[in-house]
Amino acid sequence: MSENVAILGLGTMGAGMAVNLLKAGFSLTVYNRTASKAQELVSAGARLTSTPAKAADGASIVIGMLADDIASRAVWTGKDGAIEGVGQGAILIESSTVSPAWISELAGYAAQRGAELLDAPVTGSRMQAQAGQLSFLVGGNDSTLQAVTPVLRAMSKDIFHLGPIGSGAKMKLINNFLCGVQVASLAEGLTWIERSGLDREMALSILKSGAPGSPLLGAISSRMVNHDYAVNFLLKLMTKDLNYAQIEAAACGVDLKTAEISRSLFEAAIAKGYGDEDMASVIEPLRANQEEKR
Ligand code: NAP
Repeated sequence: MSENVAILGLGTMGAGMAVNLLKAGFSLTVYNRTASKAQELVSAGARLTSTPAKAADGASIVIGMLADDIASRAVWTGKDGAIEGVGQGAILIESSTVSPAWISELAGYAAQRGAELLDAPVTGSRMQAQAGQLSFLVGGNDSTLQAVTPVLRAMSKDIFHLGPIGSGAKMKLINNFLCGVQVASLAEGLTWIERSGLDREMALSILKSGAPGSPLLGAISSRMVNHDYAVNFLLKLMTKDLNYAQIEAAACGVDLKTAEISRSLFEAAIAKGYGDEDMASVIEPLRANQEEKR
């Protein structure tokens, strides 16, 4: 593979994506704020740099997989940020779930360097990232997407081109709005089931096989039942996604009332110390509240 790929951000998702780029034979440079998280990748053949600018220097494709707008801004355009190292003709791919407004601003910085930006957030979680089975939701020029398709293919099962720059970010927020509301309503529904006297397993099996059933309901209900909050998707990141979704929908004149309510459940969980646990832990304050009221 002739492409030199750089990946910025080795959290739950970025680490899995990086492994698949190495497996596919790409020459890979990595940067992470907490450098120690890169150890396994370095052992597997990745080159670690001390700044994002150094990671971007000489890379034909630079991928960001960072927490939020603040992290993305810091890593791309902060001191020693990746934009400083980006070469003419490089293609930048922002795969973090960030706001369309930030994507538009970042596209401007890329253009100033003679580079091109795609927004390509993903669906799928930790396991799909590790298995190279993500779905990319892409915004930007078709020819740019064609040029990076072999790299995206190494990490994914699907690549959807949704339209011009920012389209992927918009689609991702709509997707996670529906996910966040479902997880919040599941937390309430399961707490209700647990207090109702119904058989919990039978009730959940009816929900899973009936109209409300979804891959998300299946996965998250088991984690809630087992109190298994090992991180697949950080609870605090869902709060962020619902916030960005509300802002973006409001710009289209749509008031996401269910996002507002759902976000308040996630914020209550953060206040109880669950922000760095899996989002399934949103149920715990509800369970505790029910205990207090009895
Ligand atoms: P994560 O495990 O929390 O990783 C976040 C990454 O951002 C880490 O590399 C972290 O560096 C870096 N970071 C955070 N704040 C920073 C700052 N101020 N400056 C520099 N770097 C910073 O998150 P993740 O689960 O991999 O998610 C990454 C992105 O994908 C997020 O936008 C998320 O919403 C989205 N996403 C996640 C999932 C999922 O299931 N997990 C699914 C789809 C999309 P450190 O290691 O130093 O903290």
